Amino acid sequence: MAKRDYYEVLGAKKGASAEELKKAYRTKAKELHPDRNSDNPNAEAQFKEVNEAYDVLKDADKKAAYDRYGHAAFEGGMGGGGGARGGFGGGQGDFSSAFSDVFEDLFGDFMGRGGGGGGRSRAQRGSDLRYNLRVTLEEAFAGVPKTINVPTSVACDACRGTGAEGGSEPTTCPTCSGMGKVRAQQGFFTVERTCPTCNGAGQIVKNPCKSCHGHGRTEKERALSVNIPAGVETGTRIRLAGEGEAGLRGGPTGDLYIFIEVKEHPIFQRDGAHLFCRVPISFATAALGGEVEVPTIDGGKARVKVPAGSQTGKQMRLRAKGMPALRGGGVGDMLLELAVETPVNLTARQKELLREFEELSEDNNPEGRSFFSKVKGFWDGMKS
Ligand SMILES: [Zn+2]
Ligand SMILES: [Zn+2]
Repeated sequence: MAKRDYYEVLGAKKGASAEELKKAYRTKAKELHPDRNSDNPNAEAQFKEVNEAYDVLKDADKKAAYDRYGHAAFEGGMGGGGGARGGFGGGQGDFSSAFSDVFEDLFGDFMGRGGGGGGRSRAQRGSDLRYNLRVTLEEAFAGVPKTINVPTSVACDACRGTGAEGGSEPTTCPTCSGMGKVRAQQGFFTVERTCPTCNGAGQIVKNPCKSCHGHGRTEKERALSVNIPAGVETGTRIRLAGEGEAGLRGGPTGDLYIFIEVKEHPIFQRDGAHLFCRVPISFATAALGGEVEVPTIDGGKARVKVPAGSQTGKQMRLRAKGMPALRGGGVGDMLLELAVETPVNLTARQKELLREFEELSEDNNPEGRSFFSKVKGFWDGMKS
């Protein structure tokens, strides 16, 4: 399908000025706006065509390229051609970018402001950074200020990010006239390749900055103070807006995301806001009842009453002795699970007492009695 001439699409004469093009574009876009053309099935396609044409012609670099090469200037992925203004944002059917320029004021948020991204401008937002931070459970409980060292690339101080030494400005590459690509005729074919002079940047730095070797950015470690709030969990993400990598050519800085990992604790296991702790108790305490002292996450102690006759697996709850919730909303509990310890390394005297105890306890061990009567029934059943 042959592409129509961009000037023709806009209804403007060849070589029209920026002002004339803008006027022509406004007229066409209003005429073809989808809101007014629900009965015209071609309107949307035409509207896109108009936007594509204007997206090119409003841009001085792209217009120059189009005037010179026609549509061929944008074939074969112009995307990376630095000199020709970043990606060829609104080119293929995505008509939001040129649209938002001129028509935001007229039609409000019709397009949901879709085209706001980096596509049409040379400025480029810096990357987001991720920083993994390990904290202890105690730190997660109380919250903690941390200083982290973030390696990041920042605009070079010496050249203010231009990459050129001593205040000189980068100049348009003479080989490719800023296009970043050169074309050569080889037999029947026109071959396009990255400009060898500027390596596709479209600009050359005659006198590269000594600090950054012409890159315009340098690696730096920055110390950042962060308050880790109480209640963080493994997987919690903390966003520090504007603390990521520097943008390119004056673009906004990216964000820094701190990913929290809470280390395992030797005593407490965590389940959301609740803590879980297994408490060993002696066989005598389990039988007779008593009190045990358990640690709490704030570094303190709590005394817990163990009822007489407690079995392994018995659970008890200490209210509000767990973790704080990250976004307000109270404090979790601590769940204790008792584990009765069988005594080991017995002395002769202890053995003697236990044997005596065993003889006396045959009659008052209801669990055991009921278990063994079931077993007897089971064996009797097998015989018959
Ligand atoms: Zn520099
Ligand atoms: Zn070049």
